[in-house]
Amino acid sequence: MTSPVRTHDVVIVGAGPVGLALLLALLRAGVDAVALDRGAGPTTYPKARVVSTRSMELLRRWGLAEQVRAAALPGDWTERIVVGRSLAGEELFRVESARERGPSAPSPESRVLCTQDRLEAILADEAARTPGAVRWGTEALAVEDGTRWAEVDTLGPQGRERATARALRRPGGRRAGAWGRAPHCPGPAGGALSSGRSASW
Ligand SMILES: Cc1cc2nc3c(=O)[nH]c(=O)nc-3n(C[C@H](O)[C@H](O)[C@H](O)COP(=O)(O)OP(=O)(O)OC[C@H]3O[C@@H](n4cnc5c(N)ncnc54)[C@H](O)[C@@H]3O)c2cc1C
Repeated sequence: MTSPVRTHDVVIVGAGPVGLALLLALLRAGVDAVALDRGAGPTTYPKARVVSTRSMELLRRWGLAEQVRAAALPGDWTERIVVGRSLAGEELFRVESARERGPSAPSPESRVLCTQDRLEAILADEAARTPGAVRWGTEALAVEDGTRWAEVDTLGPQGRERATARALRRPGGRRAGAWGRAPHCPGPAGGALSSGRSASW
C-alpha cells in the first residue's frame, strides 16, 4: 500500500531547540516548513541552559525574549559560571557573564541561563500558533535525498506517511552532515531558502 504523501518546502526532523528555532525562523520568512519529532512534546529534562546573547537577539526578533528572561534564573545569580572538579574542588575555569550587561554591551540583549525544558516549551508554544507546524509523536524512519526532492518516510499518529520537501534538516547539526536538500533549491546551508510553495503534505 502506498503511504499518503505530504509535501512542504522544508521538513525538519527533530524539534529540539535547534529544530524549533529553525522552524520559527522559516515560518516567519513565509516558508512552508514543518518539524516532526518522535517525542510526545518538548523535553522535560533541563539539559542545556546557557542562552547566548546572539540567541537572545533572535528570540527578541521573534518577540520571545521577555518570556525567556522570565523563565530564566535571575540575572544576579548568573554573574559567572565556575567549572571545577567538584563543588569544593579545583577550579578549572570561569566565565564572567556580568561583562555582557551594561551600557558598554554592544547588544540590547545579554546571555541568560534558561533551562532547555523551559526554552523548548516557549519555542514549541510559539510554533503551535501555526497549526500543524510541529508534529509530535512522528518518527522519521528513512530519509532519501533525491535530485529534486528529499523524501522522509514517517510513522506517526496517522500511521505511515511520506513527506517530501525541497529542503531537509536532520537532527545532529551541520557537523554531522545534517543539511540535505534537493540540489536545485538554495537552502539554509548555502543561501536564502526558496519561498516557492509546493503542493500538499
Ligand atoms: C543530560 C544532558 C545534559 C546536558 N547539559 C547541557 C548543558 O549544560 N549545556 C549545554 O550547552 N548542553 C547540554 N546538553 C546538550 C544539549 O541538550 C544539546 O546540545 C541540545 O539538546 C541539542 O539540540 P538539538 O535541537 O540539536 O538536538 P536535540 O535536543 O537532541 O533534539 C533532537 C530531536 O530530534 C528528535 N529525533 C531524533 N531522531 C528522530 C527521528 N528519527 N524522527 C523524529 N525525531 C527524531 C529527538 O526526539 C529530539 O527531540 C545536555 C544534554 C544532555 C543529554
